[in-house]
Amino acid sequence: MQYDKSIKAYEKARNVIPGGVDSPVRAFKSVGGTPLFIKKGKGAYLVDVDGNAYVDFVQSWGPLIFGHTNKVIEKAVIKAVKKGLSFGAPTKSETKLAGIICGLYACIDKVRFVSSGTEAVMSAIRLARGFTCKDDIVKFEGCYHGHSDSLLVQAGSGAVTFGNPSSPGVPSDVTKHTLLAKYNDIESVKKCFESSSNIACVIIEPIAGNMGFVPADAAFLEELRSVCDEHGALLIFDEVMSGFRASLKGAQGVYKTVPDLVTFGKVIGGGMPVGAFGGRVEIMDKLSPDGPVYQAGTLSGNPVAMAAGLASLEQILEDEELYVRLEKKAKRLVKGLSEEAQKAGIALQVDSIGSMFGFFFNDAPVKNFEDALRSDTKRFAAFHQGMLQEGFYFACSQFETGFICDAMDDEMIDECLEAAAKVFKEMA
Ligand code: PMP
Repeated sequence: MQYDKSIKAYEKARNVIPGGVDSPVRAFKSVGGTPLFIKKGKGAYLVDVDGNAYVDFVQSWGPLIFGHTNKVIEKAVIKAVKKGLSFGAPTKSETKLAGIICGLYACIDKVRFVSSGTEAVMSAIRLARGFTCKDDIVKFEGCYHGHSDSLLVQAGSGAVTFGNPSSPGVPSDVTKHTLLAKYNDIESVKKCFESSSNIACVIIEPIAGNMGFVPADAAFLEELRSVCDEHGALLIFDEVMSGFRASLKGAQGVYKTVPDLVTFGKVIGGGMPVGAFGGRVEIMDKLSPDGPVYQAGTLSGNPVAMAAGLASLEQILEDEELYVRLEKKAKRLVKGLSEEAQKAGIALQVDSIGSMFGFFFNDAPVKNFEDALRSDTKRFAAFHQGMLQEGFYFACSQFETGFICDAMDDEMIDECLEAAAKVFKEMA
């Protein structure tokens, strides 16, 4: 495949945009080569500016559960656009989308919309602090909750891809309130509570997708719930990625543990910039204007974004078999990857839940950030480049998650496995 036009576009972009990209991980830095500049998407495929087509296992990092150019979402967006792009006043579509989320998640009575996952989590943390009148928070090494100051500590995703999981520009006065625990390790959480009696909340990706794909152990989440209850701290599930992805009810359809607050993004916006956070009424009513905790947004609940989100969630609700199909395809992919890697003598750990999947070039199971960091990122880079040449677009970092969309069929997955077999052989 030739990437000449992408190379030129990247050079031009670098002159006027830092690193040539608006979100660091997109730059392909850890896998080498030029980031592909995209001309269009269609169904399961991405087409770059050179005209190369790829089966897309990134799907805009999760939002596009039906694939690109889904006709129902497209139609709903165009209809909304014609009525006006933004009003800065309430519309009924916000209530409708909030109603769907509240109807599905038993722990959520009320939801507020924002424009990104970062904003959703940042606001949920402020609310937890306001509600509990405490300042400290506990997060887990390798979990990524957006790039707000207090959460950019040992963060995953792009932060770890570039080896700087904590960032200059974040005052230590801010991060001193962020305590770190080890994923899937309840003793490390207990230690945080021993060291501080001022903990407002524990935030976790219940199915971590930002240190690569690492699901929590069910017993660990249950213990986490008990520890939070014991100390009067709120438990926040960051379901920006897993919400409507891991299952219809996100991680809460997979595990029994019930959080106090939940954050969303990605799928609930159907590809438009949307985030949300929700919880029980007594917590949510602490938010301004009814309560004292301030939170706001000019474009929050934007009508076009709400239309895309509604069209996405309504299709999800109408299709009882959707998650069964998605899960089957994800399992077919990871099982095949595992078999082909084994045949080539390459150590690979694979896993999937719902339409999320991941694989580590690692010879031992990955349970936490430390394990994830032991993966062979050079091998990952070789795999990534090899698969691109074969027409398959995977997330460009070992520390990210892959996504299946409904527009993918078994044939595409089998072709991907054939290509993977070839690439593994070359790598071995
Ligand atoms: N939380 C999680 C779990 C995420 O995966 C992400 C983004 N990948 C965020 C928060 C931040 O969302 P956004 O990029 O929309 O700000």
